[in-house]
Amino acid sequence: MATETKTIQTLNADTLELQKFAELAHKWWDKNSEFKPLHEINPLRLDYIDSLVSLKGKRVLDVGCGGGILSEAMYFKGADVVGIDLGEKALNVAKLHQLESGAQVAYQLLPVEQLATEQPASFDVVTCMEMLEHVPDPASIVAACAKLVKPGGSVFFSTINRNPKAYFFAVIGAEYLLNLLPKGTHDYAKFIKPSELSGWARHADLDTSGLRGMSYNPLTQNYWLSDDVSVNYLMHTQLS
Ligand code: SAH
Repeated sequence: MATETKTIQTLNADTLELQKFAELAHKWWDKNSEFKPLHEINPLRLDYIDSLVSLKGKRVLDVGCGGGILSEAMYFKGADVVGIDLGEKALNVAKLHQLESGAQVAYQLLPVEQLATEQPASFDVVTCMEMLEHVPDPASIVAACAKLVKPGGSVFFSTINRNPKAYFFAVIGAEYLLNLLPKGTHDYAKFIKPSELSGWARHADLDTSGLRGMSYNPLTQNYWLSDDVSVNYLMHTQLS
């Protein structure tokens, strides 16, 4: 067990975080489950990505792909998609789901840092959504994503901002008041300010070229992209 823990830590992963997702894994494609918010924001982020890079024919890597909600959608836009995650159960669900959907995403259980060493500069687009706030060393993930993308290629990140409003909406609101997410899904201390993410990106030669907020109205249960990046946000970066 000690060896296993050490290995996982070397892999820049938090075993408790992976465990949380493993417990919910069978629900990935249930649109009324804890994964409902990911299903609801999926068309928004897909359109944002596609409008900037035109996914058709692109070789795309989805880092921390989970059950494949975004990976499959990018495949159906015409991209050649590889999805990686350290959650074995999520990947099994993703592989099963594509038997039904007909998507052909190549899923692999692999740390992004390892893939970056093995296949540098081999993707036109890299996406890493709702994952950085669950890892011990997010800057290392950002650097690995930068290594994986071809010169001029795009890397997209999404995560949660760190400020009192984000705490109120993303933790108190989503987990305690609205029950959108299980309690304990998010750890406020791991939230990331856009300036921090942009700094890690710059350090890895990624220039920030776009920043959009993802807003939610609990009354209408609507999500939309906005200029308000104070809670959830999407960042578009490009390798210089
Ligand atoms: N990106 C997907 C899933 C987000 S949920 C989407 O937006 O639809 C967060 C995912 O990150 C889970 O699938 C979890 O297993 C994965 N994850 C957490 N830590 C990870 C790590 N260190 N390496 C790879 N994946 C990780």
